[in-house]
Amino acid sequence: MKNAGKDMNIINVFEEDRMDNVPEEELVKPIIQTKDVNVYYGDTHALMGIDLDISPKRVTALIGPSGCGKSTFLRCINRMNDTIPTCRMTGTITLDGENIYDKKIDVVQLRARVGMVFQKPNPFPKSIYDNVAYGPRIHGLAASSTDLDEIVFNSLQRSGLWNEVKDRLDTPGTALSGGQQQRLCIARTIAINPEVILMDEPCSALDPIATAIVEELITELKERFTIIIVTHSMQQAARVSEQTAFFHLGKIMEFGDTSEIFTNPKVGKTKDYITGRFG
Ligand code: ADP
Repeated sequence: MKNAGKDMNIINVFEEDRMDNVPEEELVKPIIQTKDVNVYYGDTHALMGIDLDISPKRVTALIGPSGCGKSTFLRCINRMNDTIPTCRMTGTITLDGENIYDKKIDVVQLRARVGMVFQKPNPFPKSIYDNVAYGPRIHGLAASSTDLDEIVFNSLQRSGLWNEVKDRLDTPGTALSGGQQQRLCIARTIAINPEVILMDEPCSALDPIATAIVEELITELKERFTIIIVTHSMQQAARVSEQTAFFHLGKIMEFGDTSEIFTNPKVGKTKDYITGRFG
């Protein structure tokens, strides 16, 4: 509690002393809550009754064998599944207490609040500068070109790319190495100051060195952002996340502190998966 960030959503701040024995996690309101989320693609029932609370400014890892619904779940959180005609969802998902499937929600604004980084780095065919400036321009976040320069600088700085690209901001983003491209995509995502960043296997196309750099970056970014990451690498989940949800056949089999899930899983299937008995 004493170390809780000033801007965290702490319940009962005035009861701080009395509540010193209560674990910090229990005092932090979830930023995202999902209740009884079911997703269907036509007749395929891809997600079944997903209840999950995501803590702010933490990294939550989603693990599980291929086809168990991790990406589907991730895409529900910024309504990317809306673009798939056969896809239907029931249940509720709230962001800061607001139902993101409510009719009054502007999906473009929602995706600015909940950014996404994909498996394969996908910079726009534009300069490094314009990749990062793209979001702030369309959302009108910069009042002047100096403001825009500052957003681009801060975003590249936070994504650890500034020193590598500062002398070639006008060269194409696509000319960077794979790891640099992924950090450029992260810079593009954070340039519009989202609350949540969804990452769908962000390192699976990267070499081990670029992976280590991106993992370090994820650890730094959680000071400002809530991160939900799908990963096939158990080691990565253990290194970067505080909480882990294990998905299996469209359901969450187990959710809890990453250290507990990996050292003392309560469910047999989790244990089988993390020890490599299936996957
Ligand atoms: P994971 O990310 O864990 O590999 P997915 O969310 O991609 O799992 O897939 C969950 C289930 O939904 C699978 O049975 C998959 O075949 C199905 N699915 C995923 N995307 C689509 C889609 N666009 N159309 C039809 N079925 C899909």
